[in-house]
Amino acid sequence: MQFFKARDHAIIPRALLVPQNDPTTLFTGSGMQPLVPYLLGEEHPAGTRLVDSQTCIRVQDIEEVGDNRHTTFFEMLGNWSLGDYFKEQQIPWFWEFLTSEIKLDPQRIFVTCFIGDEASGVPRDTEAADLWTKLFEEAGVDTKRVDLDTEENGAKVGDQGGRIFFYGNKKNWWSRSGTPQEMPVGEPGGPTTEMFYLFPEVEHNTEYGEKCHVNCDCGRYIELGNSVFMAYVKTDEGIKPLPKRNVDYGGGLERVAAAARDSPDVFKISLLWPIVEKLEELSGKKYDSHTNAMRVISDHLRGATFLAVDGVRPSNKEQGYVMRRLLRRAIRFAFELGIEQNFLEEVVPVIADLYVNDFPEVEQQRQEVIDILVREEKVFRQTLRKGVNELRKMGEQGELHGEHVFTLYDTYGFPVELSVEEAALQGVKVSETWREEFDTKMAEQRARSQTAAKGTFKGGLGGQTLQHKKYHTATHLMYQALREVLGDHVVQRGSNITEERLRFDFSHPEKVTPEQLQRVEDIVNEQIQKDLKVSWHEYPTKVAIEEKGALGQFGDRYGDTVKVYKMIADGADKPFSFEICGGPHVDHTLQLAEDGKRFKILKEEASSAGVRRIKAALV
Ligand code: ATP
Ligand code: MG
Repeated sequence: MQFFKARDHAIIPRALLVPQNDPTTLFTGSGMQPLVPYLLGEEHPAGTRLVDSQTCIRVQDIEEVGDNRHTTFFEMLGNWSLGDYFKEQQIPWFWEFLTSEIKLDPQRIFVTCFIGDEASGVPRDTEAADLWTKLFEEAGVDTKRVDLDTEENGAKVGDQGGRIFFYGNKKNWWSRSGTPQEMPVGEPGGPTTEMFYLFPEVEHNTEYGEKCHVNCDCGRYIELGNSVFMAYVKTDEGIKPLPKRNVDYGGGLERVAAAARDSPDVFKISLLWPIVEKLEELSGKKYDSHTNAMRVISDHLRGATFLAVDGVRPSNKEQGYVMRRLLRRAIRFAFELGIEQNFLEEVVPVIADLYVNDFPEVEQQRQEVIDILVREEKVFRQTLRKGVNELRKMGEQGELHGEHVFTLYDTYGFPVELSVEEAALQGVKVSETWREEFDTKMAEQRARSQTAAKGTFKGGLGGQTLQHKKYHTATHLMYQALREVLGDHVVQRGSNITEERLRFDFSHPEKVTPEQLQRVEDIVNEQIQKDLKVSWHEYPTKVAIEEKGALGQFGDRYGDTVKVYKMIADGADKPFSFEICGGPHVDHTLQLAEDGKRFKILKEEASSAGVRRIKAALV
């Protein structure tokens, strides 16, 4: 950024990982994304030359994590010309940056340019190629040009000793909608030029194609960055030149840093290696023999940390689900290293330390972020080992079906993808139709909880006796107490109230021990004695669940607004219970203790697979 600042660029701050005004994408995945309005012509307050480092999340790369150069979280460096300079400056500057500033070996730099598209009348980008040729020649580097066009062809014919490679629409053309043909009228686009660095010590792997070329995925050539020359726009008469042309450069900070220290492994750089070292210390294992797991864990925890910094919380939806998936996957892989105890408390601070200077928001939220991640770890660990064992048992009986994946999801909190990966790890075959089977199970579940919910509301609204109200209130207290004692995986599955008792079904994978039941009972009685005030308020459903964190039942069954009951002690800043419910309830909890009554659990038993049932009364 200093390099470009010295060339009159304004350093602009990163955008958050969750796009603010764009509900169509979950995450910011490139430096370009938040700058699109300015690339399309809006004036940027900081001027026409900008430089930044944009934090990115690419969930689509999750399977790639484990190789030497992909992470789901990374920083994308960017420099931008908004109608200002063009190729003639961008290419030499970038060359200067790579060769003089970070001192890469010119002999190991390779580039690609656009081959042209006859059908839409876009010429071959010889301008870019000529600029590169001049720079290479000055450094005494050969400049052979080779047309490869497609990746398939590249894998067939190989790099042929080339230096400047021409590829087609799929590799060296940029627009938001793809190739020139795919662009709608009004859409800008243009050719790109990409820079690669060769790591001769990485052997080509024929799994990725017969022969190696710069765009081969074996990791021998690593893409450092990509300059887009936005010079065209689609019109009714086809592709035409734009009057105001832009430059958009995007390059991975981690990769550039790895190249600068002459390593093909991004995990060796100072923003990742301390995390690996911590894992080595905690596990007593070495990176060299546990590379894949350590890479996955380091990346996922770094990503989850930044998601927390940017306001995401683990949940079963959207960004929260991705965060949960990253964390659970990291914990699962840690298992492989023999780390079976809580370890986030130790690793997350190491990650926070790495960003003290660059992103003050990480430091500001350090403790909160640690708390969030550590809490999620505790919840998941309780069921992880059982889930893995369960899956093994399921596998012993043959294929893993959607029904099994559903049980693992529903009872053990396994993200669906994790079950499938776990099956692969254990060599268990997964049925081809697991996805459909799983979806059917989910739909059935939803229908069931809808019916159950109707029952609850009917029971509640119909039964207006004081005794009914008391049991209703006791149910909320017990639900919260169960979550405190057993964990957040406890979710209501059904409820039924009579004059004599309450009955409550909830997800939990095993028998609740007598000690745990005693604790639940004690908590409920304690809260009754605190005389919590009971009140309700109506919220839009989304607000209630996502912003306010109200507890609900499993499944989507709510209308646009919901009634949320709050039970809070006098002077407390947080309610003990905050739950979506139709009511009715008593006004304050000491009413439950009238006549010297106490809350007592009468029975705990299995209700169905992964669901427990408790009967309790005020006696
Ligand atoms: P690759 O083919 O290596 O996956 P890409 O074509 O997906 O890269 P771009 O979308 O052009 O990459 O992103 C610009 C730059 O961001 C890349 O040149 C690379 O340096 C960096 N980058 C992209 N994806 C990742 C990732 N998953 N981890 C680290 N850096 C990345
Ligand atoms: Mg990619």
